Amino acid sequence: MDSLLPFADSHCHLDQLAEDAVGEAAAAGVSPIVAVSQDVDSMSAVLALAGRYPGQVLPGLGIHPCTVTERGFDRLAPDLALLSERAADVAVIGETGLDYKWATSEQQQAEQLRVLELHFATAARHHKPVNLHSRRCLRQTLEHAVAFHRDTGLAVQMHWFTESKKLARICNDEGIYVSVGPTILANEQAATVACEVNDDLLLLESDAPVAVDGIPGHPRRVREVAEKLAGLRGVSLEGLAEQLLANLQRYLTGASTDA
Ligand SMILES: [Zn+2]
Repeated sequence: MDSLLPFADSHCHLDQLAEDAVGEAAAAGVSPIVAVSQDVDSMSAVLALAGRYPGQVLPGLGIHPCTVTERGFDRLAPDLALLSERAADVAVIGETGLDYKWATSEQQQAEQLRVLELHFATAARHHKPVNLHSRRCLRQTLEHAVAFHRDTGLAVQMHWFTESKKLARICNDEGIYVSVGPTILANEQAATVACEVNDDLLLLESDAPVAVDGIPGHPRRVREVAEKLAGLRGVSLEGLAEQLLANLQRYLTGASTDA
């Protein structure tokens, strides 16, 4: 076990998994885990997990765009309050972003953007990286990500971002991190896009418990993703592990990339 190379999971809904997921992930060499959240309850759960597993679980506080649309802006006061109260104590701000599958009306989209902007302001105040979700509005989300990164110099991660080579190249040009997950195990297009991401902007994720190809999500799947990606990118697993570790450190500490 101790000869296993470590790989980090940069986006996981750990509070939705069984308690022993952290131990199972560590046994598979997957640590640390960035545990993102989507509402006030999961923010509290993630903070508790980080307290229980210091160093192994890195908390992320955020309000998911689907939560925004489901509940409506006016009912997010407790979520926004906890976000701003505890932002100083966490590793990452997220999961936040835009989701036009759920926000179909102009008003719903405007509410998601308003909440995204509050996350950006919180991240800027506390110098934290931001973990972004996007669905059916990749270009819009990316534009906001680029503007935030240019204005603040803070790191942004586009998660599950393996749909367009062209947008992956924009991320490369703008110094936006892209995390690659288990979709590359099942989907050739996602695998091709994953090969496009610059070496120094690449992160891995599970997005567990989201299932891919019928297999339930778990942070230990990050190891399979790493093995497949090393083959696709023509690098050794050791080299990839070293690069990813440096990337995660840089992402979390906010140091700038060469991109
Ligand atoms: Zn997620």
